[in-house]
Amino acid sequence: MIKEKLADIKSGKLSAKENIENFLKIINEKNKKINAFIYVNKDAVNQAKEVDKKIKQGKAGKLAGLAIAVKSNINVVDMPITCASKTLENYYGVFDSDVVKRIKQEDGIIIGMTNMDEFAAGMSGESSYFGPTINPVCPERVPGGSSSGSAVAVAAGMCDIALGSDTGGSIRNPASNCGIVGVKPSYGRVSRYGLIDLSMSFDQIGPLCQDVYGCALMLEIIAGKSDYDSISYDRPVENYTNFKKTDKLKIGLSPDFEKLCKDKRIYSLIKSCAEKLAKETNSKIKKINLKYVDLAVQTYYPIVYVEFFSGTRKFDGRKYGRKIEDSCGEEVLRRIIGGKEISKAEYHGMYYKKALRVKGLIKKDFDNAFKDVDIIIAPVTPSLPHKLGDKISPETAYAFDAFTIPANLAGICSGVVKSGKIDNIPVGMQISAPAFNESLLFNIMKKWEDLNI
Ligand code: GLN
Repeated sequence: MIKEKLADIKSGKLSAKENIENFLKIINEKNKKINAFIYVNKDAVNQAKEVDKKIKQGKAGKLAGLAIAVKSNINVVDMPITCASKTLENYYGVFDSDVVKRIKQEDGIIIGMTNMDEFAAGMSGESSYFGPTINPVCPERVPGGSSSGSAVAVAAGMCDIALGSDTGGSIRNPASNCGIVGVKPSYGRVSRYGLIDLSMSFDQIGPLCQDVYGCALMLEIIAGKSDYDSISYDRPVENYTNFKKTDKLKIGLSPDFEKLCKDKRIYSLIKSCAEKLAKETNSKIKKINLKYVDLAVQTYYPIVYVEFFSGTRKFDGRKYGRKIEDSCGEEVLRRIIGGKEISKAEYHGMYYKKALRVKGLIKKDFDNAFKDVDIIIAPVTPSLPHKLGDKISPETAYAFDAFTIPANLAGICSGVVKSGKIDNIPVGMQISAPAFNESLLFNIMKKWEDLNI
């Protein structure tokens, strides 16, 4: 557990070097098989030795000696930032993204770059140019995506904390499938400077970890205004690890999510968890209405297609390696062609604007719901993850994010904690709180974790 490990490192019981070496050993043993990392930092042990010196001098930061894995769409200087695509196979970061800068300032050690769905466009972890990532807790099922390698690195004990990105569920979906904790912060809470975007209206970088403390600590460090990202909000970052007792809450459950849940066992499990949480915290469950939530998937994709198309125009083969259309996989190409079509001048932005309007309606749904309740509990996915290698249609893949996309459309924060297992497959519970109320979110996630340990 992260809090205990930090105490051990601080007291000298475990050195940063030993911590890193332990992980490198596990990576060495397991990575060939589970493919969580695309690249491992060759300098990690030397960097750990430097951190050990700082610890001895009492000058080390809040992440001193921890091994941090980074998704391959977040820039780290001198590491391959491939987005798991052939297009960027030979591209190395020339600068540190804001989040990485902050991690390094706090003496976290970047242990490597993780595998992912190509350009973060996916939900299974299978579309990487470097091959699929394997779910260590349930190898016959996909680990989820697109932050597959980050979730798997955490679940397989190859790092302390990982960074992922979440545009429509890419942190929460693999966290759920791998039985770990993951958080999508509110839109604008974390600087995206240095993130290669899938869709700039939705993308947020967030943490994945075995425990809530690790996620809270990481968000405390990476959150906050940056001059390099104009949508990062200038709001104080609270002390998220200072968990407060929360009770007498109003917990929202939505029949609209229940209707959309294909595997009813998932909904019953989540409902019984919500009831348990309510009982243990003296809280009440209230029904909420999210009447446009069934349009979330149809609203999200036109926006993502258009923004992705626009964002990928820089990959024309002149500056960053290959031309994307000549070197990418099927799903990325579908989005580029689709985005190009939707943006055609003759449509006058008709589809994009319509999607933006519905995005506004869904946001209003959530604003109204949060007038009546403090938090909303929902499943993470409408069905269990598919078997590795099973061919699924784009529509089925897109529908898999029906419960995670709404939080991105509404700009609120959402976290995933373990809820149990169905058919021996981990299933997460999604807790959402109003935008910029991450403290409340973490307090409740922590309460749930404590109840279940
Ligand atoms: N699966 C969704 C998509 O393909 C979400 C991806 C993400 O959050 N990066 O767009």
